Amino acid sequence: MTERQDIFGAWSVNAAVAEPLAAAARTAREMVAAGDAAGGRPGATDAAVRGDGAGDGTGPGAGTGTADAAGSGVMTHSWLLTGPPGSGRSVAAKAFATALVCDDPDVVGCGRCDQCRSVRAGTHPDVEWVSTEGMTITVDDVRAVIRSAAKMPTVARWRVVVVEDADRLGDGAANALLKSVEEPPARTVFVLCAPSTDPHDIAVTLRSRCRHLYVPTPSPAEVEQALLADTALGLTDEQAAWAAGVSGGHIGRARHLARDAVAREKRATALTLPKLVYEPARLFMFTRSLVAKAGEEAAASVEETERREREALESSLGVGSKGKGAAKAQRGASGQLKELEKEQKNRRTRLLRDSLDLALIDVAGLYRDAMLIAAGAVEAAPGDDGDGHGVPVGGLMHPDMAATSRELARRNSPEALVRCIDAVAACREALGFNVKPEVALDAMAGRLRECCRLV
Ligand SMILES: [Zn+2]
Repeated sequence: MTERQDIFGAWSVNAAVAEPLAAAARTAREMVAAGDAAGGRPGATDAAVRGDGAGDGTGPGAGTGTADAAGSGVMTHSWLLTGPPGSGRSVAAKAFATALVCDDPDVVGCGRCDQCRSVRAGTHPDVEWVSTEGMTITVDDVRAVIRSAAKMPTVARWRVVVVEDADRLGDGAANALLKSVEEPPARTVFVLCAPSTDPHDIAVTLRSRCRHLYVPTPSPAEVEQALLADTALGLTDEQAAWAAGVSGGHIGRARHLARDAVAREKRATALTLPKLVYEPARLFMFTRSLVAKAGEEAAASVEETERREREALESSLGVGSKGKGAAKAQRGASGQLKELEKEQKNRRTRLLRDSLDLALIDVAGLYRDAMLIAAGAVEAAPGDDGDGHGVPVGGLMHPDMAATSRELARRNSPEALVRCIDAVAACREALGFNVKPEVALDAMAGRLRECCRLV
């Protein structure tokens, strides 16, 4: 090992995005150095960045002039990282932010200097991380971000604004952000993350101002490698292989399953559903309890945050104070408290739906395994004892549930199992359209029984 690993390697960021981002971070550093050499006039750096084609809206591949002269990478002010949930787009964004502020003279994004460590801890003053637990990022949220984005960085070369859920920007918020992205402050870089470039996920106007990079879904082997590289997890090879195997290429999910026994239990519970379809008396009780449990968990996970938010708002509004003007203040306060309660309720709803969605993805994966087996799309497994089972081409989504998927395949035709997958997908879609969870799950349970010819 002659060269020290940078943060992209240390965090196993997919090479398809790690290479352009690392190159851009190197270029960004050279630009600032060149600007400083030119007398430290911010304008010099400004021109260098603008000259490279940032903000001209030509998207990927934009600007090959000045940036290539300065280094091998193309630097722009605004980036859009897309990829399916769990593909690691947030990790890629964080690695990029780290590399932009890193101080190490040799490795851009060393992971060890004070700057790098404070990004990791979430305390870096020049790295703003915008995420939401609610359904949408509001105009007010965005205005606060824009105000800080307009300032020069305080301790680092660059200021970085990461919008983790750009698909949750409301129309007003997206418009407000657009102005900054169109005319970016001299030393500010915007990184937006979204599931895809679909107009539902990211406003067309915003997308056109950003250089777009796609983060592909990692293979199980890549997920396993990422888990093992994260020494803080302290996993054995076997644990990492299991978590990677059942995560469907979702690194965050694999990490969660590897370290959280409750998450493993939830997964195991969800995966009993296809069997319970054959036991109507228990099936509908099960779907009800699944919803109730997800609701309780959502409430418990935000209980502390909600209490703090309420206290902070009450004290800022002077609730409980007496004296001149107090009564008038109280009247205004009740409106703001109602608004907060509404936001908190939205957040709980989102958490509940996210939790159910995860369970349904697992259930669909089990039907998918069964369908491939029923269709005979299998190949001999390594070490197959010749019992003719084999495993689906491309592997099982739930290798530890092979007995269940084989049993489902024995009882149902491939067509019936495709309809089961559709029934689960329809339920996920209904939840996305705010159908009451109990109603959506009961409808799915009924359809699954029909698909399996039980009614
Ligand atoms: Zn560093």
